[in-house]
Amino acid sequence: MRATRAIIHLDNLVFNISEIKKKIPANTRICVPVKADAYGHGAIPIAKAALAAGATHLAVATAQEGVELRRADIGAPILLLGLCSPDEIGEIVAHDITPFVADRESISELSRAAKAAKKRLPVHLKIDTGMGRIGCTPDEALSLARYISDDACLELAGTATHLPVSDSPEAAHREFTRRQLDLFARTVNSIRDAGIDPGIVNAGNSGSVLLYPDAHFDMIRPGIIVYGYLPDPRLAGTIDLRPVMELETEIAAIKRVAAGTPISYGLTWTAPGETLIATLPIGYADGLARALSPGLRVRIGGAEYPIVGRICMDQCMVDLGHDSPVRRRDRATVFGPRPARGADEVASILGTIPYEITCAVNKRVPRVYVEG
Ligand SMILES: *Cc1c(COP(=O)(O)O)cnc(C)c1O
Repeated sequence: MRATRAIIHLDNLVFNISEIKKKIPANTRICVPVKADAYGHGAIPIAKAALAAGATHLAVATAQEGVELRRADIGAPILLLGLCSPDEIGEIVAHDITPFVADRESISELSRAAKAAKKRLPVHLKIDTGMGRIGCTPDEALSLARYISDDACLELAGTATHLPVSDSPEAAHREFTRRQLDLFARTVNSIRDAGIDPGIVNAGNSGSVLLYPDAHFDMIRPGIIVYGYLPDPRLAGTIDLRPVMELETEIAAIKRVAAGTPISYGLTWTAPGETLIATLPIGYADGLARALSPGLRVRIGGAEYPIVGRICMDQCMVDLGHDSPVRRRDRATVFGPRPARGADEVASILGTIPYEITCAVNKRVPRVYVEG
């Protein structure tokens, strides 16, 4: 196995789920999004660990991601959060994946495919209450719910919406989310009042789990907090979380260079004095964004050292200073659970969010699953 690897601390995943459970009533179901290869952590092991820790549902972004879970013998309900293309319908029906639906045309297509397969396909009606992405309007919801529940080949297994600013403490955003939740609750009630069972009502992403106890409904869909990061740094103190992924590598070489020696492409950095330069076998193709240098420091043996010069596709260099106890083959941590800095701190250097940092860790970086 190569020296650069992503260690996945499954015990931290279990810890995070148990902290999330403290925020919700005991009968609230938990759907863990494992889309994008479980935010880069590896969909199958994460799905299994999450289900063992009490999750009842999983969620994916593409039919293919759902099929991958089924092939690993995962039998739990799998929500498909995005709209499916007609090409994906066969797989959805064959593998009993539960798609979000929002229009008559796709509902009819799914119904025809379910009928042909002699199956009753569960679907969730997605209502757009303010995300502006997918979903029917609240006004259309009742008629679509009726359309689904009248169809013998479909089951209205759930009703869902999504919250774009549930992780923001700003007053205007709180007001926006409050209005969304009210609108969603009223729309679901109109479905119930018409004698139609809305199925498992679900809205809550990570932000709403932390800020809106009344957004739990029947099931929450927390992603980033399961993986150990807050959706927004301003929510610090709302929950105790432990990062699940640790991105580490080892020093491939150390050399002493003279003052004025340039390092890496573009000669953007030159040694200000005689110093020790370590080469790490990790680069932007592994997910270490080129824009992280200058700025990122990696942790080696309890101290932090700056990446210097441009990050290359497969390698980068670190300045160890004039004298250093660091040796060739020592491990270097890019991000991970404390005492290392988190993917959220790496994200802030790039002006992005931790989601993008863990998702960016390339498939060629082996994932190593540990319990402790
Ligand atoms: C990804 C996703 C989630 C999880 O969001 P987090 O911010 O990671 O908690 C929930 N619901 C939908 C529809 C999503 O696409």
